[in-house]
Amino acid sequence: MRFFPLTILLCLASLTWADDTRNEQPLSFSFITTSYANPTAEAFLVKGGRLWHQRALVQGAVLVQHNDSLFLYDAGLGKNIDAQFAEFSWLGRKIFAHSAVTPVAEQLQAAGIPLTQIDFIVPSHLHWDHASGLPDFPETPVWVQSQELAAARAGTRPSFLPETLTESVNWQAISLPARPFLGFERSLDVFGDGTVVLVNLPGHTAGQLGLYLELSANERYFFIGDATWTVKGIQNNKKRSWLIKRLVKLNDDEQQTQDTLDLLHELSLQDPDLVIVPVHDEQQVATLPQFPQGLAGPLWKSEP
Ligand SMILES: [Zn+2]
Repeated sequence: MRFFPLTILLCLASLTWADDTRNEQPLSFSFITTSYANPTAEAFLVKGGRLWHQRALVQGAVLVQHNDSLFLYDAGLGKNIDAQFAEFSWLGRKIFAHSAVTPVAEQLQAAGIPLTQIDFIVPSHLHWDHASGLPDFPETPVWVQSQELAAARAGTRPSFLPETLTESVNWQAISLPARPFLGFERSLDVFGDGTVVLVNLPGHTAGQLGLYLELSANERYFFIGDATWTVKGIQNNKKRSWLIKRLVKLNDDEQQTQDTLDLLHELSLQDPDLVIVPVHDEQQVATLPQFPQGLAGPLWKSEP
């Protein structure tokens, strides 16, 4: 029997493991929960929801690993949420009250992942609960459609937080080609292999983006931002309740919001194996891999 030096054997083993991991699962993801909205009646969240059934919507981000690339969809509630929240009106603080926050940036660092390893962030849209954490990543490019950023900067609290929309964030304007996907008009194939696709889902905001992930032919997910807050909204093709809509202006364009919801409802009927995830639906999110579970390979690259 021939003996190889131990270090060579270890190197070979780690190379094999890394390559196997990559080949077997080039795409993986994990949901990072930062907080929960205070429990409220489901009927308050979606038309036709149950009055006596309490729901605590989740707030967070999706960490996606595509081969050597890492990116976030949404940024969740960030390190400065208390100061940001203090600027809300009394009513805003009541409606949007939430649990204690563990920001995405802190969770990544606690897991040993330097923030510089995140290649880019794609906020589904720029409402406060998705953009609060953006300033925690000052170096990281933030991909946004220009109409979304312009509308957000023209917007006001509590929907939009001016301090998350400044030039201290590394904005990168993206435009989605007229490439129909899943019934929607515009989409962007991020890595050119069809496994990660951004989809224009207008209505809730001017340039909301959905995220399609294809882990395999049998495992496909479609994160739809806040096109609706609950899976029930898609199943029943129902918008948010009239009460919440009376209290705060939630949608940029009501007709587009309904059109987007109609398409999602149709998609859910035609493609029942596709897992559609409204990012606040805590029941649906609980079925997904929770950070740091679910990710395929080592999460940090060797420093240059
Ligand atoms: Zn939201």
